[in-house]
Amino acid sequence: MSFLNRIKVLLSAFIHFINSLPRKHFFALIILFVCLLIVSFLPSQSIETKPITRQLVLPTQSTAIDNYTKAEPIEVERGQYGDSSFDFSGKREIKWTIKEGDTLSNLFQEEGISAAVLHELQEVDTSHLRLGNLLPGQEIKVLLDSDNLLLALKIKVDFANTLSFVLKDGSYIALLQTEKGEWRNSYYQGTVTGSFYVNAKAAGLSDGQIQQISGALQEKFDFNRQLRVGDTFQVLVAKQYIDGQYTYDSEVLAVLIKNNRQTYSAFLNEDGRYFDADGKGLGKAYRRSPLDGRYRISSSFNPKRLHPITKRVRPHNGTDFAVGVGHKVYSIGDGVVQFAGYHPAAGNYIVIKHGRKYTTRYLHLSKLYVRKGQRIKMGKLIGKSGNTGRSTGPHLHYEFHIYGKPVNPMKVNLPLSAEISQKNKKAFNTRRDNFLKEMNEI
Ligand SMILES: [Zn+2]
Repeated sequence: MSFLNRIKVLLSAFIHFINSLPRKHFFALIILFVCLLIVSFLPSQSIETKPITRQLVLPTQSTAIDNYTKAEPIEVERGQYGDSSFDFSGKREIKWTIKEGDTLSNLFQEEGISAAVLHELQEVDTSHLRLGNLLPGQEIKVLLDSDNLLLALKIKVDFANTLSFVLKDGSYIALLQTEKGEWRNSYYQGTVTGSFYVNAKAAGLSDGQIQQISGALQEKFDFNRQLRVGDTFQVLVAKQYIDGQYTYDSEVLAVLIKNNRQTYSAFLNEDGRYFDADGKGLGKAYRRSPLDGRYRISSSFNPKRLHPITKRVRPHNGTDFAVGVGHKVYSIGDGVVQFAGYHPAAGNYIVIKHGRKYTTRYLHLSKLYVRKGQRIKMGKLIGKSGNTGRSTGPHLHYEFHIYGKPVNPMKVNLPLSAEISQKNKKAFNTRRDNFLKEMNEI
């Protein structure tokens, strides 16, 4: 019996049933149906008297969930005071677990810790810039003496970094412990069947890595117009692991795109730039200054600078350019935005990572035009100069770091040419050949 026939039979049986009912029963059935209809449209509260208890789920930044690991016990900090003879009796240890909306100043206030202390911590943190936004789930440990003086504070800022402040000889020193972890290479390959993005994702590459690949070959290869079905791609990616856990920090080391006529290649040099197999630059050179035009330097890089009041060493980690508010600030090289935000001492600031070796910082900005995680090219307008944070007047504070250590941005030996220098050619060739070996190409 077909489906339609079944319906017909059921319908006729139903009509027959209705017809066979006594009149009274029929009207009772109609009234009951109407009542049910009315009840179903009534607001639900009038029916359900029990309160509904539901847990409110607060939006948390994914970085806090993905990358956060538990902080080390503050006992480690006790070592800072020298031997075990340091008297810890009468001291208090507090552990805060950050909730949505918490700020350090609120937490300090609740515990009766001086606001001046927080001010000083933020000041010392300008060398690390990690005491900005707290993330829900983060843990902070503090050690206080019997007079509520802060002796130490420790915060695990992300997977690889733990920031501590310790009171030593009357002033605070900031220590950033960075775990280098272990970098392991992963190899990906695939064949183009449609869009490169879809095929690369299917091969296991992340959005960020795909962006890095297209950025690396951007000047030489058009993924939309030149890629054909049947072309192959091979990619070598370095990934960072800490205690066996992937930290989501990665970089694309090598890319090969092959069609039936040609191979397009990109190899990441130590300086964070991509070159083809012959060592021809695929991107632009670095630029010396993040500003257009020449400006007076109002304060130079000085690792031994003394604090005007305390007379303690408070290094000046960058170069200050005497520019007014609103001057355009450009990235001095290709890279990825590591931070773009606000810090009480540094004001609006941007940190750009140019590969594993170089990092640049731009402080006291009036405007930010980039966001965290964004990949940018050399010469990209990233913000405008300003006077935000603790600044004595409008200027641009610019820092250059090599493997996390600040160097003089005006003197650093920067790769200012698009090509590899003769001096570095041999090292590049060795790197390239190692990558090709891992990709089973030689
Ligand atoms: Zn400065």
